[in-house]
Amino acid sequence: MGFQLKLLFIGAGISNLSLARLLASLETKITIIDLKDHIGGNCFDYFDENSIDIHAYGTHIFHTDDAEVWKFLSQFTNWYPYQHEVKALVDGQLVPVPFNFNSIEQLFPKQMAEGMINALLSEFEFNKKVPILKLRESKNLDLQFLAEYVYEKIFLHYTEKQWDVRPEDLDPLVTGRVPVFVGKDNRYFQAKYQGIPLEGYTRMFEKMVDHPNIEVHLNTKFHKNMLDEYDHCFFSGAIDEFFDYKFGQLPYRSLKFDFLTFNRPYFQFNSVVNYPNNYDFTRIGEYKYFLDTQSPNTVVSYEYPEAFVLGKNERYYPIINEENKRLYEKYLEEAKNNKKVTFLGRLGDYKYYDMDQAVARALSIAKLFSGR
Ligand code: UDP
Repeated sequence: MGFQLKLLFIGAGISNLSLARLLASLETKITIIDLKDHIGGNCFDYFDENSIDIHAYGTHIFHTDDAEVWKFLSQFTNWYPYQHEVKALVDGQLVPVPFNFNSIEQLFPKQMAEGMINALLSEFEFNKKVPILKLRESKNLDLQFLAEYVYEKIFLHYTEKQWDVRPEDLDPLVTGRVPVFVGKDNRYFQAKYQGIPLEGYTRMFEKMVDHPNIEVHLNTKFHKNMLDEYDHCFFSGAIDEFFDYKFGQLPYRSLKFDFLTFNRPYFQFNSVVNYPNNYDFTRIGEYKYFLDTQSPNTVVSYEYPEAFVLGKNERYYPIINEENKRLYEKYLEEAKNNKKVTFLGRLGDYKYYDMDQAVARALSIAKLFSGR
C-alpha cells in the first residue's frame, strides 16, 4: 500500500459525509468524528414504530437542479418522487405558498382576482418567481395592493417569529426563497430533481460512509490537539467556536419541536402547513406524507423558532444580514491563514445552505483537493 493521507472530518452532517466519501476514493485514511450519537447532523431521520420516517430536526425535502449533486447522492439511495406543497392559513383559508394564481383565486372575489392576475402577467413572465421585496416596488396599483397583502399575511409575522426581525432587515435571499409565483404551480420547489430517500436520509448516509477508508466515531468531542495527528482537517462545526469566539459570537436562530402522535390516519391535508399569523409556532409538519406511509397513526411536529443560546440549544440557521456577514468575514480571514483546516457546511461557512448546496460545496472542495 502506498502513502495514505490522514484526514480528519469534524462533524458528520451532509457536507462532511459527502466530502469524506468523495475523498475516500483517493489514497486516504479518513476519520469522521461527531459529538452527537448519530450521523447526518440535522438531516438525521429514523423510522418510528408506525414505520413513519421521522425527520428528527424538522422536515427535510431534497430538491436540486444540479445533475451532478443528484447523481452523487443517487449512488446511495433510490428516491420517492415526492413533490413538496405547502399551504398557509391566511384569513381562514389554507392557500398554496408560494403565493400563486390559485392562492389569489381562493382569497379574493373573482373580478379582483382577475385584475391582480392580469397585472402580474403584464409586468412579469408567466411561470416565473418574483421576490416579495421586488413585488413591493411595483407602481401598478393592483400589484401594490397584492404586494402589501402578501407581505403582511405571508411574510411579516412569519419572519418576525422565525427570525425576530422584519423581512427587510434580512438578506433579500432569505425571503426570496419563497417568492410569489406567476402561475398555477402549487409546488414549493420547481427543481428538476426532488424527492425523499426511499429508506430515509440516515440510511443514505450510512451507505455513503460504508467504505474501507472511512471510520466514524460518534459521541466524540473535538480537541485542537487532534489536528497534529492528521495531514488535513475538514471542519463543519461553527467557525466562531473553532476560533474561540475571538471576534464575538456569530448569531444563529434555533428551533424547538413538539412531536405529537395521533391515533388517526391523518392530521392535516398536506405535509406542511404554515401559520404565518396565528399561534407561536411557524408550521406543522406531518411526516407520513413524505414516503406516503400507510398507518392508522400519524406523527406531526409543531415548530417553534427561538434564539440560539450557546450551551442551551442547537444552531439551525445563520442569521444572514450585512452586520453578521462582516463578522463572518473576520473569521474567514483567520481561516485563510489556517492552511491545515478547510471549513464547510452551514456552520463552517456561515451560509444558509440547502442540502443540495451543501453537497455541491463538498463536490467543489473535493475537486480542489484532488488536484492539489
Ligand atoms: N417565509 C415567510 N412565510 C412563509 C414561508 C416563508 O415569511 O409562509 C419566509 C421566512 O422568513 C422564512 C423564509 O421565507 O424564514 C424562508 O422560508 P423556507 O421555507 O425556505 O425556510 P426553511 O424551510 O429553510 O426553514
